[in-house]
Amino acid sequence: MSQIKLKPCPFCGNTNIGEECRQGVYYVACENCGSMGPEFSSDALRGCNGWEEAAHAWNRRASKLAIVAKDFFKIIDKFKG
Ligand SMILES: [Zn+2]
Repeated sequence: MSQIKLKPCPFCGNTNIGEECRQGVYYVACENCGSMGPEFSSDALRGCNGWEEAAHAWNRRASKLAIVAKDFFKIIDKFKG
């Protein structure tokens, strides 16, 4: 397991994020809604830590989507008046 702190799920806000490994493919997935981060195979990452890459990718996407979600809710608020 990686030592990287995973950001909450950008889709449901759940903080229970799991690291999965299936047949040499590492990825991070939300335990609540099941959304998955990008997959990294240990073969492609020779000498690298698949967990670490998967965790970083999850966090990158989480921050990007968090910004999008913030704008989205701003627009919703506008419509609500
Ligand atoms: Zn989720």
